[in-house]
Amino acid sequence: MSGTFLGMPAFPKAAREAVGDERLRANLRHATHTIRDKRARAVGELEDWEALREAGKQIKDHTLRHLDRYLVQLEEAVTAAGGIVHWACDAAEANRIVADLVKATGETEVVKVKSMATQEIGLNEALEAEGIRAYETDLAELIVQLADDRPSHILVPAIHRNRGEIRDIFHDTMKNWGRPAPEGLTDEPAELAEAARLHLREKFLRAKVAISGANFMVAESGTLVVVESEGNGRMCLTLPETLISVVGVEKVVPTWRDLEVFLQTLPRSSTAERMNPYTSTWTGTIDGDGPTAFHLVLLDNGRTDTLADEVGRQALRCIRCSACLNVCPVYERAGGHAYGSVYPGPIGAILSPQLRGTTSEIDASLPYASSLCGACYDVCPVAIDIPEVLVHLRERVAQGGPAVTRGEKVVLRPARGHAAERAAMRAARWVLGSPGVLRTGQRFAARTRRLHPRTLPGPGRAWSASRDLPSMPAEPFRDWWQRTNGGKGEAQ
Ligand code: SF4
Repeated sequence: MSGTFLGMPAFPKAAREAVGDERLRANLRHATHTIRDKRARAVGELEDWEALREAGKQIKDHTLRHLDRYLVQLEEAVTAAGGIVHWACDAAEANRIVADLVKATGETEVVKVKSMATQEIGLNEALEAEGIRAYETDLAELIVQLADDRPSHILVPAIHRNRGEIRDIFHDTMKNWGRPAPEGLTDEPAELAEAARLHLREKFLRAKVAISGANFMVAESGTLVVVESEGNGRMCLTLPETLISVVGVEKVVPTWRDLEVFLQTLPRSSTAERMNPYTSTWTGTIDGDGPTAFHLVLLDNGRTDTLADEVGRQALRCIRCSACLNVCPVYERAGGHAYGSVYPGPIGAILSPQLRGTTSEIDASLPYASSLCGACYDVCPVAIDIPEVLVHLRERVAQGGPAVTRGEKVVLRPARGHAAERAAMRAARWVLGSPGVLRTGQRFAARTRRLHPRTLPGPGRAWSASRDLPSMPAEPFRDWWQRTNGGKGEAQ
């Protein structure tokens, strides 16, 4: 994924630092609570929400099961419509393809529609290394780019910034990227939006090449779909001469009819709107209308490895609505940067360690970045059981085991730092599998309960620092059952 996140500390350290930033916590709390309340109202309007959720899940699961077939169908349809399809197995290959395509046009700048896939592969940095400047045109992405910052939310990448900070960013840095901010700019939303509009318009009218992602790709017709709120996407998709779309292979759906489900669930889950303001669709090229050259770069970058995991593959259903972020108590306090990935929050905690593997310290820490409260599963419009995948990945981190990496079956070794956890689990397995040992242990623990410490020593200290150790009953349940004949004796 993006080099911009390289070298970040593991989640516990990054989260501890973020939690100490009061302004960040206040910005996040205000934004996530506002969006989550609105979303609940928008979803509550639909009587068939649960049926739509199930339909979305089924469509995605069916497509993932037959991904090879639908991708070939998509390629044939795009090619028949005048587009060119490129396949990229990883970030480096995708970046090289895009850079070569841009260079072939003779241009040195491109406009971009907000795209998580291009952030995932670090495309802006790769283009910069080739002398090509990429301008983000989504308002929040523009703020992140001008501030030389990193996105911290899927839908609202600048969620950690308040209006005053945005005004200062526009005032200080817009002039370095093109049209400067107007004199006397205040932090009124309308003024900030107007400043961004004037700044971006110059770029839309000049750009010959655009780069986009896509929310969906329709296999039967070769159509790509972008849903957005600002209209910047439509400008990028229609004005330039060359359009390059970089899209993860899991974004394909079989038919136009399938969009009926997602165009209801996505806007309500993400921005709490009944329908999104702009839905742009494009199919290859058409003479006299829109770009004259269209390239589709189909990105794997760990997706087929993820698909090979029977439990973890459900993460590929994600439609990037961000509802799970807005309800997550961990995300609300730690913010998006702590996840060290373009995919923050609960979905990031399961997607990043699958796309990138669990060998690095930060990826091994992500499955633990959750309280397992289950709120993310409840709101997910495609019913991804995020807690189930988190537990599955924790097991992989602590125990190692079989996985698929770059298409090869491998046996992963346990990550470092989990020896105590493994020893504890082995001991628990032995005790729970030996009734005599369990009974003796329970009696011993009950009789010595007054001597038990209030916090755990050694590696268990971190666990008990924020939790009360459960108090031990005076008598094990089995002894009580025997002594009282299952409670009947006590009742008499
Ligand atoms: S995991 Fe579900 S709730 Fe979270 S972003 Fe993806 S689709 Fe939305």
